[in-house]
Amino acid sequence: MSRTFEVSFEFFPPRTDAGREKLTATRDALMTKNPEFCSVTFGAGGSTRDRTLETVLELRDGGVDAVPHLSCISSDKQELRELLARYRELGIRRIVALRGDIPSGQGGGGELRYASELIELIRAEHGDHFELLAAAYPEMHPQARDFESDLRFFAAKMKAGASRAITQYFFDAEAYFHFVERVRALGVEAPIIPGIMPVTQFDSLVRFSDVCGAGIPRWIRKQLEAYGDDQESMRAFGHEMVSRLCERLIEGGAPGLHFYTLNQASPSLRILDSLGR
Ligand code: FAD
Repeated sequence: MSRTFEVSFEFFPPRTDAGREKLTATRDALMTKNPEFCSVTFGAGGSTRDRTLETVLELRDGGVDAVPHLSCISSDKQELRELLARYRELGIRRIVALRGDIPSGQGGGGELRYASELIELIRAEHGDHFELLAAAYPEMHPQARDFESDLRFFAAKMKAGASRAITQYFFDAEAYFHFVERVRALGVEAPIIPGIMPVTQFDSLVRFSDVCGAGIPRWIRKQLEAYGDDQESMRAFGHEMVSRLCERLIEGGAPGLHFYTLNQASPSLRILDSLGR
């Protein structure tokens, strides 16, 4: 059966020539799935930021609607204004607007404290030029005081001018449906796109999930652990488990799927193939 939900893919800016070549191949492979857009993450620090723009331009060369992420926590308003002007000049029409995380040892220093303030600034200075997508956390942002206040801050951020949100990844479909229900009750009508993390490596998944607050249900953790060095079985299980999650999300009304590709094509492609997309 051929399915028609929207998909998007997320990349990080490569650091090396080999990484750039790999991303070009990944881009070309993923284009076969006709993504709505591909987004590029943004890190703190000058050279990392420049790489976001370079990567966006390289993706565009391949016919992709490339969307930069922009975080406000370690930039002053002037730096943000310059970057926004540059994006506008280059014809970029969408941005993933974030607070960002401060890398340890780099200090804060930004004038804006929350993503909602970045969204307000962009709306105030660029009107409706950019479509703004914001981040959502079905399992609560790791630094949030509690779930209720996190939901209220999320609703305020969307009302400040974001038209869609992309979630942190999760493995419990109910967490997503519950989050959507709760934010609808707060008056947020915007589509909430689930972020999907294909599972290919156990250790890095655990490390990353601990940092970003994504829960790995016990049964999944135990099963993945049990495979030990048997990468093939681990990947087969990861594929099956994430494909089922996607199936449930789409059946349950999710507006599309956003894949955290880690610059690899095949894990996302295989999941989409199994969904008939
Ligand atoms: P916010 O919405 O500002 O929320 C941050 C915290 O502040 C939450 O705990 C919230 O409850 C609280 N809060 C919000 N408003 C208020 C208020 N008025 N008063 C008190 N508390 C408040 N990081 C990067 O560095 N680069 C990237 O490219 C990147 N891409 C991402 C893409 C997606 C789809 C997602 C889900 C995350 C991404 N991140 C990225 C990570 C993100 O920057 C971090 O999770 C960050 O800690 C929070 O960003 P945010 O935009 O959700 O922040």
